[in-house]
Amino acid sequence: MTDDPAEVAGFVAARARVLEAIATAARRAGRSPADIRLVAVSKAVAPPRLRAAVAAGLTDLGENRVQEAAGKADAVPGARWHLVGPLQGNKARRAVDLFDEVESVDSVGLAVRLDRLAGELRTTPLPVLLQVNVDADPAKAGFRADALPAALGSILDLPHLDVRGLMTVGRLVDDAEAARPTFALLRELLESMHGDDARLGPELSMGMSDDYPVAVEEGATIVRIGRALFGERPAPGASADR
Ligand SMILES: *Cc1c(COP(=O)(O)O)cnc(C)c1O
Repeated sequence: MTDDPAEVAGFVAARARVLEAIATAARRAGRSPADIRLVAVSKAVAPPRLRAAVAAGLTDLGENRVQEAAGKADAVPGARWHLVGPLQGNKARRAVDLFDEVESVDSVGLAVRLDRLAGELRTTPLPVLLQVNVDADPAKAGFRADALPAALGSILDLPHLDVRGLMTVGRLVDDAEAARPTFALLRELLESMHGDDARLGPELSMGMSDDYPVAVEEGATIVRIGRALFGERPAPGASADR
C-alpha cells in the first residue's frame, strides 16, 4: 500500500489550488475560509489514486453510488465518506453502514428509514443534509423548496438523525454566475427555516468544480469538488478503472 510520491504531490498541489480559490472567494464575501469544508467527489476514481488523495489531505470523500463506495471503502483507509447521490430504500442499510454522512436525503420516507437503521447500527446520530431541488428541475432529486417546511418538522423529530443543513445540486450552467440565484435561494431557505426551528443545522452543501467560488460567496459551508481535483471523468459507460 505504498503511495506514489508523485501522485501524492500532485494532489497536494491540486488541493492547495482549490483551497486557495475557496479562501479568495470567502474573503470577497467577508467570510472565514475555515468555515468551508472541501469534499473531494471521488466517483469513478480507483482506490490507488484515492489513497494518494487521502495522503495529500483530501480526507472527506464523496460518492454518488452506494455500490461503488462499498467496493472502495476498505481499500481507502482514513477517509470520511459522504453519500452525495440518490439513495434507494433497499440500499439504505448498506449506506448507513458505510457512510459517515448522507447529504442526499430527499424524502420523509427515506429519513424515517435512515433513522430506524441509524438507531440499529450506530451509537451516535447519523449526520444528514436534506437535498433541495431549488430549481424544481424534473430531472433532479430533492425536496421542492415549497414542500420542505411542511416536511421538516417530522424529520427533525427523528432521534437518530442529526440534520445538519441543506444540500443542492445546481443546474448545469455555462457560466458560474448563472448558478448564483440557485445558491442564494438555498441560503435564504435555510435562514428562514433555521429561524423557525434551531434543530436544523447551519450547513449549506453547494458548489461543484465549475461554480464553487460563486457558491462560497453565497454561503456554502461544504463544496463538493470532483474534476477540479481528479481531472475529467471517463464518459458514462466507459471503464471507471483509472
Ligand atoms: C459528481 C458530483 C459532484 C462533483 O462534480 P464536479 O463537477 O466533478 O466537481 C458534486 N456533487 C454531486 C452530487 C455529484 O454527483
